[in-house]
Parts: sequence; structure tokens; C-alpha cells
Amino acid sequence: MKLGILGLPNVGKSTLFNAITNAGAESANYPFCTIDPNVGMVAVPDERLDKLAEMYEPDKKTPAVIEFVDIAGLVKGASRGEGLGNKFLANVRETDALVHVVRCFDDENVIHVEGSTDPARDIDIINTELVMADLEMVQRRVEKATKALKGDKKFQHEVDLFTALQKHLDGGQLARTFACDEDDAALLRTSDLLTLKPVIYAANTDEAGFADLDHNAYYQQVCEIAAAEGSQVLPICAKMEQDIAELEGEEKLMFLEELGVEESGLDRLIKCSYALLGLISFLTYGKDECRAWTIKKGTKAPQAAGKIHSDIERGFIRAEVIAYQDMMACGSVSAAKEKGLLRSEGKEYVVQDGDMIYFRFNV
Ligand code: GDP
Repeated sequence: MKLGILGLPNVGKSTLFNAITNAGAESANYPFCTIDPNVGMVAVPDERLDKLAEMYEPDKKTPAVIEFVDIAGLVKGASRGEGLGNKFLANVRETDALVHVVRCFDDENVIHVEGSTDPARDIDIINTELVMADLEMVQRRVEKATKALKGDKKFQHEVDLFTALQKHLDGGQLARTFACDEDDAALLRTSDLLTLKPVIYAANTDEAGFADLDHNAYYQQVCEIAAAEGSQVLPICAKMEQDIAELEGEEKLMFLEELGVEESGLDRLIKCSYALLGLISFLTYGKDECRAWTIKKGTKAPQAAGKIHSDIERGFIRAEVIAYQDMMACGSVSAAKEKGLLRSEGKEYVVQDGDMIYFRFNV
């Protein structure tokens, strides 16, 4: 699961990316690595895991992780191959969701490629490039389906659907705002469309702008656009996040308290991104390791077990589950067990976010 960070040049992508990877390096016991300068693995903040680690004092505490990619260099004309256009669009294609960074700060020392701060225009430039790339892909799909239709009538629906989408894109609209039912949506997903990917708009403000978002016209512009297409907005001050990311433990908490916020914007961004990807975590716990495991929402118990080891999936007998909240309400696992809150679940059980699980399996 991979998130791409994109936006025009000089909007704060690298600042944000560096803050993210810095924050990742700080999490203890996590085999953090920077695969290449533009790719970083980052720990997903999880209070539940922290609490379990406090209770069990394990040898190892392992958070869930997601991957971020800094996709630099997307400029006007990218879809026509300008700049390093095609390469960057290919990078976008490899991601599962996007963080679209939008410049919402003025600073005459930081050149704006378009000459002024204008979030609506900037968003439009990037989205237009993505739409153009999609348009090309959809055109090819229509041609292919039309050919196939000659031999098999069942392709009629595909021709109609993609032709309708082509019109939609031609009008400058994003694929994710194309209205259709679930079956059609599934068919659309067989085409790897850029504007179908879920997006969080990260409105990068300066400190003053961040302190008064209600009166921040740039931020409000981003909110309007996001609302119209059903996407999320996250206000963030990348420069400040960079400073916060350099702090640890108590120092970090004190700084956040001074700012009057509970968690850093980065932590919020990482959590939002995780949710945007449709991911949840289940937890395993014990003296040797406390760990958060990543699964897709809707995953059943045996497949969740398979994340730990394929042998556990193969030999799956049952899952002993306690909801984290239940355990906390009782104060400990053993107290929760006494109250009958430990459930024995079978193969059809759909694992929930925050489930604490012990798997029983045949070797
Ligand atoms: P990128 O090209 O989108 O990756 O942009 P960078 O992260 O390299 O940022 C470009 C410049 O803008 C750098 O000099 C940053 O220090 C500066 N910058 C980033 N975020 C902010 C911000 O919130 N306020 C101000 N004033 N400058 C920022």
C-alpha cells in the first residue's frame, strides 16, 4: 500500500515528506528504512499499541507501517510529456491513494511556478494533467472494447460505460466524480485511472494561517473544491511539522501543548491516509512482542492470520478475540476474560479495527 505525495513545485511536498520520514525514524524498535530518497516507510501512530506496550513491556513493539512516495516534478504539460511528465505520471499510477499538497501560504522568498498563490488554479493544473492522462487511457479502452464488440455482444456495456466516462473526462471532470452503480464502479477500477484514486488535499498553510483557518481564504478555497468532489482536506503547516518531527517524547508533547493541539498534523495525516486506503489494524500482544498488523477492512480471520504467517492461515482453527475497548474498560486481558469478553471466532469472522487476537492453529 503506497501513498503518493504530489503537487506543483515549491508547494511544500519535500518539506512534508522529510517531516514524515523524520518522524518515522524516531519510532523505536521499528526497522525504519528509506528505500530511496523519494520513498519512505512510516509508522502509523496508534495509542492502542502504545498502551499495550506499557502493559506488557515487550521486547519488541512493532507498529503498522505505510509507504509514502514523494512524486516531484508534476508540472503543466506533464500529460503531453513535458518536463519529466510521463515518468511522473507512471509514478502516480503505482500508488493506491494520493496526498495532493496545495500551497496555501504567501512567501516572496519562495518562488511560485505560476507567479502567485492561488489554490483553486493550482489544484486545477494538477487535476487537469491527471484527467488528460486518464482520457488517453479511456480512449484506448473504448477502442479496444469496440473491437471486441464485433466478436461478442457482451462488450456493448463496456463500450457504453467508457464512452460515457470519456465524455465526463472531456468536460474536465475527475473519474472519481463519475456517477455509476457498484458494478460499473468495479468495471472502471479494471482501468488504472489516476483520477479514480482517493485523495486527501493537504492545505499547506503558514503558521498564522494555520492559527485561524476560518478566516484563511486559501484554505477555504481548498475546502470548497474538496467538498464538491467528496474528498477530504487536511490543514497542515509543513514547516512547523518539520520542527515537530525533530522533537521526541516529552519535548514533543510540550511543544504540541504550547500549540494547543493534541497530536501533530503529521500524525493526523498518516492516520487519515491509512483510513483513505481502507486499512485497519488488529493487534497481537505478549511479553515478546506487541504489534499492530495491517489489513483491509472486511478481511476475515484466516486471511488476517495469514499476515502473520501463511502456516497460521493454513492451519487456522479459531481466533480468540477481545476488542481493545473491552479490554481497556476491564483494565486487563484477564479481567476481560473473566467477564466473558474473550470471544472464540471462526473462519467467517470479519476482523474489526482494534481487535486483540490470539490465533489457534494446527501445525
Ligand atoms: P516542493 O517543491 O513542493 O517539494 O517544495 P519544498 O518542500 O521543497 O518547499 C519549497 C520551499 O517552500 C522551501 O524553501 C520550503 O522551506 C518552503 N516552504 C514549505 N512549506 C512552507 C510553509 O508552510 N511556509 C513557508 N513560508 N515556506 C514553506
